[in-house]
Amino acid sequence: MKETAKFQLPTPKERVAANSDRLGSWRLGVGSCVARTTATVVVAISMVVFAGAQDLRLNELAERYVRLVLAAGQHDADYVDAYYGPAEWRTEAEAQKLPLAEIASRASALAQAIAAAMPPVTADEMTQLRYEYLARQLDAVRARVSMLTGTKLRFDEESKALYDAVAPTHTEADFAKVLAKLEAMLPGQGTLVDRYDEFRRSFIIPKDRLDPVFKAAIDACRSRTLQHITLPPGESFTVEYVTGKSWSGYNWYQGNYRSLIQVNTDLPIYVDRAVDLACHEGYPGHHVYNVLLEKNLLRDRGWIEFSVYPLFSPQSLIAEGTANYGIEVAFPRAERLEFERRVLFPAAQLKSEMAVRYYEVLDLVDLLSYAGNEAARRYINGEIDARGAADWLEKYGMYSRPRAEQRVRFIDQYRSYVINYNLGKDLVAAYIESQGTDRWSAFARLISSPRLPSSLATLNFQPPTPK
Ligand SMILES: [Zn+2]
Repeated sequence: MKETAKFQLPTPKERVAANSDRLGSWRLGVGSCVARTTATVVVAISMVVFAGAQDLRLNELAERYVRLVLAAGQHDADYVDAYYGPAEWRTEAEAQKLPLAEIASRASALAQAIAAAMPPVTADEMTQLRYEYLARQLDAVRARVSMLTGTKLRFDEESKALYDAVAPTHTEADFAKVLAKLEAMLPGQGTLVDRYDEFRRSFIIPKDRLDPVFKAAIDACRSRTLQHITLPPGESFTVEYVTGKSWSGYNWYQGNYRSLIQVNTDLPIYVDRAVDLACHEGYPGHHVYNVLLEKNLLRDRGWIEFSVYPLFSPQSLIAEGTANYGIEVAFPRAERLEFERRVLFPAAQLKSEMAVRYYEVLDLVDLLSYAGNEAARRYINGEIDARGAADWLEKYGMYSRPRAEQRVRFIDQYRSYVINYNLGKDLVAAYIESQGTDRWSAFARLISSPRLPSSLATLNFQPPTPK
């Protein structure tokens, strides 16, 4: 086998260096004014003129980016997760079906054009964020196109290139304490995962109760969200139940403030999934995130790059991280337990008095979530095969065999995307909790602005270790 070249991301320093000449001359022009008051007026006028020109320039670059994402989508059915920009751009992309080499070459030219369009340091924060985000999203397009042409990246290289983040590494020993606690909580014969599976059986939502249970969860997540976040009129989503998927739920954002949410019923659905899915896919998760991006960035500001969502990009870490953290924002622990006991357990015809113990066990299992990343890392890096990955998920992540096999199919399809859920949530949590205001307003601000995962990570973020 021929070794393929590694894809290299430009470093932020390189990007700054590419801009230093242009920035320097701009600053010099401003500095040559003599009288202070005159200088202030001139600076103010230049900034307005510059801001207008800057917006136009970025708009033009953003359009090229959108067209490249649509072109790449012709080679990868999972790539374009949502698109609600001009329909003719998609038609053109379909008709042209640009070869990957041509997409790569246009993306490289666009990266240079973006490097030359860096806003001045005096530009407002949203313009700076927009610029950094566009540049980094394009880096991810280039990485994905490179992968589609055969470049093999190791797990961490791939997650860095696509999602702007690298998950911490764990060993078997890191999960030992949590597993020992679970052993004590679930004594008996057979393997721990079998006992856990047996325990969970009492918390399956009967098929004929699925819809009312989900509806109750969605209503609660929506009303809690609307107390804190104003959504545009007409926003709504529909729910469908599907089979034969590697995921358990999916939000397909349609544009015009509407989502289609699909729930996979291949495997039994446990009662905790109702609030999880309703918040994660709906309120205040993916549906709200997409609605706010469309409203605030695309419609109000005309930032066309937000009309497309390339799945394998930093945007996904923010999307999954906020969707997962949003569950806790909407339902703090005690309130959730109360809601489960009073509303959802009865709706699912389950024993409410079991809710506390159920969540004690789930809390422990949740501490094993990074075992899932580890299975994916070893599997993608070729250290274990599909069977070995399923074994890992069973032993260290408490996945039943069918669920472990479903998860391996997910890893086959989405690879290092798995880090977006748990690392994404932990990064978002650390960021929001560092903001010092109430969680809802920090959360709303985060999902209404273009922020990169690496910018969340700069704040004393400690990767979690299971205890
Ligand atoms: Zn999601």
